[in-house]
Amino acid sequence: MLLRWLMHPARVAAVEALTPHFRLIELEGEALKNIDWTVGQKIQVAMGSGLSARTYTPMSWDTGRGRTRLLAFAHGDGPGSRWASSLREGDHCQFFGPRHSLDVAGLAGPVVVFGDETSFGLAAALRNALTAGDVLPVFEAIDLAEAQQVLNAIDLGQARLIARSADEAHLAGAEADMLRLAPSGAQFVLTGRASSIQRISRALKAAGIVSSRIKAKAYWAPGKTGLD
Ligand SMILES: Cc1cc2nc3c(=O)[nH]c(=O)nc-3n(C[C@H](O)[C@H](O)[C@H](O)COP(=O)(O)OP(=O)(O)OC[C@H]3O[C@@H](n4cnc5c(N)ncnc54)[C@H](O)[C@@H]3O)c2cc1C
Repeated sequence: MLLRWLMHPARVAAVEALTPHFRLIELEGEALKNIDWTVGQKIQVAMGSGLSARTYTPMSWDTGRGRTRLLAFAHGDGPGSRWASSLREGDHCQFFGPRHSLDVAGLAGPVVVFGDETSFGLAAALRNALTAGDVLPVFEAIDLAEAQQVLNAIDLGQARLIARSADEAHLAGAEADMLRLAPSGAQFVLTGRASSIQRISRALKAAGIVSSRIKAKAYWAPGKTGLD
């Protein structure tokens, strides 16, 4: 009941199928006006009439017009994936937030963003907040061609993309990329799959990067739901 009371209604103003697995979603409504939003925060969207919710990262928030944009990756057939894939303009939903998730609002460039398909929205929000060229994205992804198409559509086409391999061997390449960028005094923002973040974070710390230069937030982990 308390959760229901805290939920805000929104209408789907637009939904664009960028590729088979990615939806660019624009929500609008009175409840989205005059909101305090900062880059890196999350919203939780209620799934159907139940109490479960799935978490997304606003790419932008126009508090005057009451509009926010999300980029949802429909990876499988969980409630969030089904919600994103079946969404139509004019649909309604309930959401909770925006709320604290990753404190990146005060970061100055250069910022190296490591993540995956779930992190594209965050990287776009950071790119909007910082000077162009100050955000250096490195993403692991399942389908490189699809990911590239999405990144081009949201103006992040220059991101470094690495194909995810089952044995995790690809993370060595990601680590090397990150370490190459470390001497520039960059800040590191790590999101996406929990085990990848842990590994990259360990590599950065082993190379002498102090914890204060690293911000990390797991967005999902195999076999888990609602990783908040
Ligand atoms: C703070 C925060 C911000 C987030 N922002 C975004 C965002 O902006 N856009 C976005 O698309 N996602 C985002 N996510 C991730 C998203 O909430 C999860 O991927 C969520 O699990 C999707 O819900 P689902 O119902 O489709 O799958 P679930 O039913 O929750 O998951 C079922 C199973 O699918 C697997 N799984 C979950 N996510 C993935 C994935 N991405 N790739 C492969 N397998 C997966 C896991 O094994 C999981 O146990 C965010 C998560 C957090 C915590």
